[in-house]
Amino acid sequence: GSSDINLRAFVDEHHFLFVTFTAQGHINPFLQFAKRLIGMGVHVTLATSVYMHRCMNKTTPITGLTFATFSDGFDDGFKPKGDANPKYEEYMSELKRRGSEYLAHLISSAKEEGRSPFTCVVHTPLLEWAAEVARGLHLPTAMLWVQPATLFDILYYYFKDDKYIKNKLMNQKENPSGLIELPGLPPLSTRELPSFLVSPPEAYSFILPGLEEQFKWLLQQPNSKSVVLVNTFQELEPQALPPLDCNDIDMIAIGPLFLSAGKDPSDKASPREEYIEWLDSKAESSVIYVSFGSMCVLSKRQMGEIARGLLGSGRPFLWVVREREGQGEEEDELREYRKELVEKGKIVGWCKQVEVLSHSSVGCFVTHCGWNSSVESLASGVPMVGFPQWADQNTNGKLIEDVWKIGVRVRVNNERVLESEEIRRCLDVVMGSGEKGEELRRNAKEWRELAVKAVNQGGSSDINLRAFLDEVGARTS
Ligand code: UDP
Repeated sequence: GSSDINLRAFVDEHHFLFVTFTAQGHINPFLQFAKRLIGMGVHVTLATSVYMHRCMNKTTPITGLTFATFSDGFDDGFKPKGDANPKYEEYMSELKRRGSEYLAHLISSAKEEGRSPFTCVVHTPLLEWAAEVARGLHLPTAMLWVQPATLFDILYYYFKDDKYIKNKLMNQKENPSGLIELPGLPPLSTRELPSFLVSPPEAYSFILPGLEEQFKWLLQQPNSKSVVLVNTFQELEPQALPPLDCNDIDMIAIGPLFLSAGKDPSDKASPREEYIEWLDSKAESSVIYVSFGSMCVLSKRQMGEIARGLLGSGRPFLWVVREREGQGEEEDELREYRKELVEKGKIVGWCKQVEVLSHSSVGCFVTHCGWNSSVESLASGVPMVGFPQWADQNTNGKLIEDVWKIGVRVRVNNERVLESEEIRRCLDVVMGSGEKGEELRRNAKEWRELAVKAVNQGGSSDINLRAFLDEVGARTS
C-alpha cells in the first residue's frame, strides 16, 4: 500500500549507531538486529572495542555493516583472573571513560550539512553512558534488552521497592511460602530468581550496581519515555511487556532476532560443515544437541557425568566442548571418554548453533538456558533439557518448563552435580514415546509457528519494529 512506500522512503535515511558491551551473549543479538535492519534498507554502524571487533571478524561477516572501533585499554582482551589484572569494576569505568569520549567524537565529527548522519543510538544494558552521550547530542536512543522481558520486570521490581524482593529474601517471616510473587509474573522460588540477586558472584560484582544505575537512568528521563527493545515476542511474554505498573518505559518486542535476521548471502556460499553432513546421515529428531553457551565452564566430574549420560542414552549426540585457551591434553576433562564419545557421537569445539537447531535430525537440546540458546531452540521447535547455571538462566529454565512447557529442568544432587542417570531420565522424558514427551514436542512445534508468525510481515514483532522506526523517523526528520 501507499504507507509502505512512505515507510521505505524514510527507512533509507535511517542510520543506526549500535554500541555493544563486550560479551558474546550481547554481541550476537546485536549482529542479528543489524542484519534485520540492513535487510530493511537501514544503515548500521556498530561501535565496539578493538578486541571484540577482532573476535567478531572470525564469524561470518554481515554485508553492509560498518564497524567503528575504539580501544577500551585492553586490546588483547580483558582477563579478570590473576593478581596483575584489574577488576571488572575498573574495566567498566575505563570502558565508560574511553567509550564516551570516542562516541561523542564519532557522532559530532561525522556531521553532514551540520547534522549528524546518525538517527538513533541503540546500546546494550550497562552502557547507559552511551545513551547519555547520544541524548546530549539530541539523538533518540533505545536499549536492546538481550534477555527475556520477564527478567527485565524482575529487576524493575527489585530496584523499585524493597518490598517486592529484597525484604522477602531477607525475612523469612514476610515470606513463609518462600515464593516471590510479582505482578504479571509466575510465582518464583528463590532459586528461580536471577542468581546475582540472591548470591552476587565475586568476580562479577559490578553487575548488580551496574544494572541499578541502568534502571535508574531509564526511569528518570524527563519529557520522554525510555525505549527498551526486547529480543522476545509479544505472544511469548504477553504479561511482561512492560512491567504492569510501569508507565515510564516503552518495551517493544522485536524478536526472535535470529529468525528475522535471515540468511546472509555469504552464508550460502560457504561449504557445508562436517557436523551438518553428519546430522544429514541421522534419522529425524534422533540426535541430542548439547551445548552450554560461550562462557560456562563445567568441572571435570560434571563433564564425566554428562559423557556417561550421553553414552548410556543409546542415542546419537552432537556435543560442543569449547577448547579453552592454552588447554593441553593433560587438562582435557574428557580424556578417558574421548574415544568412545567420538565413536558414538560427535564432539566439536564450536558450531553454527542456529543451523544445528533447525536441522530436522535434532530432537532435543541439552542447554544451560542462556537466553539466546533458549529462544533459538524455542523458535526452531526443539524441546529442551535445561541445566541452568547462573544469571538469568534459572529464570529462563522456569519459563521453559512451567510456562511454555517445552522442556524439563534437571535435578542436581546434594553436591550440585547433575548425575548421568538423571541426564538419561530427562532425555527419555523429552525424546521418548511417553505422553509428556509428546506434549513437549507438540508445544515446541506450536511455539515455533508463533515465533515465525511474529517476525513475518504483519506479525507482532514486524509491526512493532516498523512502528519504532516510524517513531524514530518522526523525531529526527
Ligand atoms: N553458539 C554458537 N555455537 C556454539 C555455542 C553457542 O553459535 O557452539 C551461540 C548460540 O547460538 C547463542 C550464543 O552462542 O547465540 C550463546 O548465547 P547464550 O545467551 O545462549 O549463552 P551465553 O554464551 O551468553 O552464556
